[in-house]
Amino acid sequence: MQKTILHLDLDTFFVSVERLINTELRNRPLLVGGTSDRGVVAACSYETRGFGVHSGMPMRMAKELCPEAIVIRGNAGTYSKHSDVVTEIIKEKVPLFEKSSIDEFYADLSGMDRFYGCYKYASELRQTIIKETGLPISLGLSINKVVSKVATNEAKPNNQLKVDFGYEKPFLAPLSIKKIPMVGDKTYQTLCNLGIRQVRTVQEMPMDVMQRVLGANGSLIWKRANGLDNTPVIPFCERKSISTERTFDKDTIDVVKLRGILIAMAENLAYQLRKGEKLTACITVKIRYSDFNTYSKQFRIPYTSADHILIPKILDMFKTLYNRRLLVRLVGIRFSHLVSGNYQINLFEDTEETLNLYHAMDHIRNRFGDKSVIRASAMGAKTIGRMNNPFNGQPPIVLAHRKQ
Ligand SMILES: [Mg+2]
Repeated sequence: MQKTILHLDLDTFFVSVERLINTELRNRPLLVGGTSDRGVVAACSYETRGFGVHSGMPMRMAKELCPEAIVIRGNAGTYSKHSDVVTEIIKEKVPLFEKSSIDEFYADLSGMDRFYGCYKYASELRQTIIKETGLPISLGLSINKVVSKVATNEAKPNNQLKVDFGYEKPFLAPLSIKKIPMVGDKTYQTLCNLGIRQVRTVQEMPMDVMQRVLGANGSLIWKRANGLDNTPVIPFCERKSISTERTFDKDTIDVVKLRGILIAMAENLAYQLRKGEKLTACITVKIRYSDFNTYSKQFRIPYTSADHILIPKILDMFKTLYNRRLLVRLVGIRFSHLVSGNYQINLFEDTEETLNLYHAMDHIRNRFGDKSVIRASAMGAKTIGRMNNPFNGQPPIVLAHRKQ
């Protein structure tokens, strides 16, 4: 059966929210991100793009390129609230949708055309969002996620585009190969070196040539360039917290071991947050003594998913919590008050070095497993972790070794 997939993307989301709060910022070059010298641009307005500014670049470089730009330190909490309002509107109008990031959504409208035109329905949804939130949003509609996402990007800013069934290839053909999702700077460079700049060129090549040059990525890029994609829309479920705990086979009083386990837990949970593009604003540490008395402590923090911020806080909390000289039966950690946030680790305080470090660590974990990179202090705790993305609609896996 033919699918109809809608992609919705809020335009320069952080910038748009800042302009909603302060209308004087409209039509002016605007940079949102870390304001320290080593900060990174999280979002930039269209007015800055002509100067060569793009998100992800060092703030200092952006300021040099566009000195007249107004620089604003972003606020994850504010953006999350506005994102939630948009989510609520979509939830009301569409039965099956996926929230792929703080400002992006996919919806499966398959079969709705029997009652009502899908494009008409999508257009009305977009107008409702604009009217009710005051935020500009663009949409793309086609038979799959990849083509719809490319269509949205072609429609931007604040517009919409439908790719009719059967016209996927001709729609993609004249575009730069850079526009295919997953073709980053490095892949683009490799393709350019081969003389491939346009999607059309890939369409005219046999798949195995791409595969020989770029491996498994090559065949995926080839499929996408040909408008082929069958990844499903993953239903949205708002998970409010993630946690992990450990009951010991033998109660322990070994503080070094306890700290090591807490670090391993924190590291693993934080990795899961980043994988699910989430940030936490509240830590809970729990401890149960051998006499079954259980104590816990809660602490509010600014939104983050960074180990180097979470771990010291957790160890601090454990230090004040562990005040009875008794054997410990269980320790646990919970991260709650979760919000979506994928742009940065600690949205507006990171430096480029920190971001690169986390990207590199997570890249290794995605490829070789979540135990492939760990802190030396957490090496004693071998069995913490091994979970898939807990935010993709799947229930969390209960670990076999974990006692309830
Ligand atoms: Mg966006």
